Amino acid sequence: MPVWEYAPAPESAAIGRIKSRYQMFVGGRFVDGRGGDVPTINPATEEELATVSWASTDDVDDAVRAARAAYDTVWSKMSGLDRGKYLFRIARGIAERARELAVVETMDNGKPIKESRDADVPTAAAHFFYHAGWADKLAHAGFGPHPKSLGVAGQVIPWNFPLLMAAWKIAPALAAGNTVVIKPAESTPLSILVLAEIMADAGLPDGVVNIVTGAGDIGSYLVNHPGVDKVAFTGSTAVGKKIQTALAGTGKKVTLELGGKAANIVFDDAPVDQAVEGIVNGVYFNQGHVCCAGTRLLVQESVADEVIGKLQDRIATLRLGDPMDKNTDIGAINSAQQLSKITELSAVGDEEGAQRWTSPCPVPDKGFFFPPTVFTNVSQSMRIAREEIFGPVLSVLTFRTPDEAVAKANNTPYGLSAGIWTEKGSRILGMAAAMRAGVVWANTFNRFDPTAAFGGYKESGFGREGGRSGLAAYLDTDDETGSDEGTAA
Ligand code: NAP
Ligand code: MG
Repeated sequence: MPVWEYAPAPESAAIGRIKSRYQMFVGGRFVDGRGGDVPTINPATEEELATVSWASTDDVDDAVRAARAAYDTVWSKMSGLDRGKYLFRIARGIAERARELAVVETMDNGKPIKESRDADVPTAAAHFFYHAGWADKLAHAGFGPHPKSLGVAGQVIPWNFPLLMAAWKIAPALAAGNTVVIKPAESTPLSILVLAEIMADAGLPDGVVNIVTGAGDIGSYLVNHPGVDKVAFTGSTAVGKKIQTALAGTGKKVTLELGGKAANIVFDDAPVDQAVEGIVNGVYFNQGHVCCAGTRLLVQESVADEVIGKLQDRIATLRLGDPMDKNTDIGAINSAQQLSKITELSAVGDEEGAQRWTSPCPVPDKGFFFPPTVFTNVSQSMRIAREEIFGPVLSVLTFRTPDEAVAKANNTPYGLSAGIWTEKGSRILGMAAAMRAGVVWANTFNRFDPTAAFGGYKESGFGREGGRSGLAAYLDTDDETGSDEGTAA
């Protein structure tokens, strides 16, 4: 297969207007935290990008107090129509500063600029636009005629989609009438602090959204804070379990969006070239730092050799390197810690007897990079088939019958997503119904839309984000999914 040569096409770092130092955002003001200054680095160069003023627990107290005051005096009293106007303004602000946000995200996180530009930033804006439309229609959302907000939402997000996760959390909370205190991940605090500027410019009343920067201890303090009414967490299953244990019996409403080990199932009648594109998108998008990534390829035995051969040919064309280059497909791993986790679990794959194939792409000397990797001869008991690697590593298993595919796909502690590739419509419907997964894609993968609910089964967590059912997580209703029978007359 001919491989194209590309001239370098780097985006300009100057567009990010990255400052040397960032402050937290509390009570509508940018303020110093009392937790000291901590650098954030660019994982593609290992160089310091900026320092960030971190919160202490006293700062979290201040932020919760500001959120409570904003809730009591302004936000809970405002009409949905007016709340929606702020959300529309924030959405437009994201769109106006889209190119800057994409550069900031790519430099702080390591993801390719084409992904931050074409996926993260526009989808973040779309979440604010979508939820802006709900703000004045909550009485028609199926939760009764007068659905009530909960109060102050304490939210904690991970590093893999920093801006997008902020939008997933903040937009529905505000649309439903809650105020927010949110903690970004320690390695990716910059894009949400640019979002804070956008929210301030939109005239969002002081204290409606507060951003506290810091590490896991600050996240833990926030979710356990007695002034918080609702907790929304996205991150690892291990931390999710700790939060659920700590909050049991407190009466706080909790949603947990955790890890995954999704099956991407390819039947013998699937269009192979399209399936190969979907497998690549499913596992190598965002370096595989995706909770719903299709990391277990289940391929029907009769077409396994053909699919794996074509897949390896395609993967060999993926360009790994400078995330700021517009032609780059695979960027940097977010941190040295994550790179060693991927390296260690892949070594376990070798020890367990799986066959490793690595893309022949060149790997830069500097920065955190891991080449696209495929393990074949994988069995269900291996750790690489059971544990989340959270990197660009695919494990391939085979099956003979649809029943075997279902059994293998569901044989996981997780249940976030699944993919099905077949030309047969009835098989898609039957397989989708049999999957214990919150999201099932058919003949596509990793499609995200604010109108569609996203969330898990089992150790992937509970509660939904996005769509009408995502609103339930921020409203006082026992009905998590929202019954249509409750719609206001
Ligand atoms: P993580 O360690 O659980 O961290 C997630 C967030 O929680 C970070 O902001 C982290 O702060 C904070 N945190 C750490 N310990 C905490 C504690 N005891 N209490 C409260 N907050 C705490 O996860 P990660 O390694 O950053 O992210 C990767 C994981 O997230 C993967 O397992 C992935 O599947 C999952 N994820 C799930 C979804 C989903 O929608 N289901 C989406 C994205 C990611 P620090 O940054 O300081 O560690
Ligand atoms: Mg960083």
